[in-house]
Amino acid sequence: MTMYDYDFFVIGAGSGGVRASRMASTYGAKVAIAEDYRVGGTCVIRGCVPKKLFVYASEYSAHFKDSAGFGWSSEAPTFDWKTLLGNKNTEIDRLEGAYGNTLDNHGVEVIRARGKMLDQHTIELTDADGPRTVTADKILIATGAWPSFPDIPGIEHAISSNEVFEFEELPKRITVVGGGYIAVEMAGIFNGLGVETALLYRGEEILRGFDLEIRAKLRDEMVKKGIDVRIHHNVTEIKQDGEQLMLTLSDGNEMATDCVMYATGREANTKNIGLEELGVNMKPNGEIIVDEYYKSSVDNIFAVGDVTGGMQLTPIAIKEGAALTATQFNDTPTFVNYDHIPTAIFSQPPIGTVGLSEEDAREKYGDDVQVYRSEYKSMKFTLSGRDERSLIKLLVDASTDKVIGAHMIGPDSAEIIQGIAIAMKVGATKAQFDDTVAVHPSSAEEFVLMK
Ligand code: NDP
Repeated sequence: MTMYDYDFFVIGAGSGGVRASRMASTYGAKVAIAEDYRVGGTCVIRGCVPKKLFVYASEYSAHFKDSAGFGWSSEAPTFDWKTLLGNKNTEIDRLEGAYGNTLDNHGVEVIRARGKMLDQHTIELTDADGPRTVTADKILIATGAWPSFPDIPGIEHAISSNEVFEFEELPKRITVVGGGYIAVEMAGIFNGLGVETALLYRGEEILRGFDLEIRAKLRDEMVKKGIDVRIHHNVTEIKQDGEQLMLTLSDGNEMATDCVMYATGREANTKNIGLEELGVNMKPNGEIIVDEYYKSSVDNIFAVGDVTGGMQLTPIAIKEGAALTATQFNDTPTFVNYDHIPTAIFSQPPIGTVGLSEEDAREKYGDDVQVYRSEYKSMKFTLSGRDERSLIKLLVDASTDKVIGAHMIGPDSAEIIQGIAIAMKVGATKAQFDDTVAVHPSSAEEFVLMK
């Protein structure tokens, strides 16, 4: 019989927290989860899910154009933002409800309050009725991360992607700052929905860390679609100029826009929740330092997901939450294997990738790296006339014949890369890829036909 109110208390009902609380309860623990906003976290409420719905919406403008080459004609289609927003909100409400029901069905108590650690086992919970305290044996911090902005004059005029999901109406012009996942995905959405879109990136090439050829290809395709992509550009000041905003750029030029959206990374939500006072070790940027079993420097306090840094991806947070609870509540020490993590960028065209980039592969394997590449026009675009080409790359370690990297930019690449990731996870060789019968006619078959 525990001497605390709960065996396990989770702060933050996002992807990691929800999975961990549900699993711990399944293993017989008495569990509660505190959330001061909506159940579902960044992914469900203002990230992956609504983003993907917006990507679908924005792709229709190109699909309508494509259809003409297949014989279709219709009135020029029009787009209504309020319809999309309303339908998106309905779907997110439904999903939030489903998350809440799952927690209820698993016997997890959901507490709508802000949690703060008072001591190693005591959590202060604050809601509209004021603060109260509860105690717990083990505590999980799963508070995620929040958009960060550089400290430049006028930054208060900028928004993050969070606000986009609540826009009353679409701006006529938007400038996106950053060259990571969110920047390229959001730029594609705005452009597809008819917003005049610019993307400013401070470095040499967007999507640092990914395969260089894929990065260059995406920029090329984004420019072809009409996005004003400017590399080596940053904003030094933002000023209100009547109805519009005026951006001072790093090259001294000015740029007028109606809205500026920053996607310059996210920082861990670890402020003002009592962690410093408890002596929980954190990196200088506030990310919680944990061991391979997600334990912090304080014995009964754990952390998973974005709040620990690393790859800020929903499936990672979910796997970490499951591993933590199997270790702590099911007597099965479990840790996550971070090799061969596939990921997709829902840019237009989308990217799917797993394993090493060509640059990283060459650094690790030197001259042993074999590069196979296939650049082609998707069959659909032959009749549609769309000027877009796809690129697939396979990287192989010649000394073992193992596939060590797979990259694709083109339609369906997010769907295709998942299967490739399974093959790589089990150590598939190039000979085994070649031995696999092609699915014809498809884009995916390129992966088994590269010579
Ligand atoms: P990223 O870390 O992916 O990208 C941040 C971008 O901002 C980089 O291009 C970076 O440039 C640039 N940047 C950073 N600081 C500044 C600054 N002071 N001034 C100008 N530019 C700056 O972060 P995001 O915000 O795009 O996304 C956060 C995380 O969310 C991602 O890392 C990803 O893990 C996750 N995510 C995943 C998605 C998916 O799975 N499809 C979708 C969306 C988000 P530089 O390269 O020079 O450092």
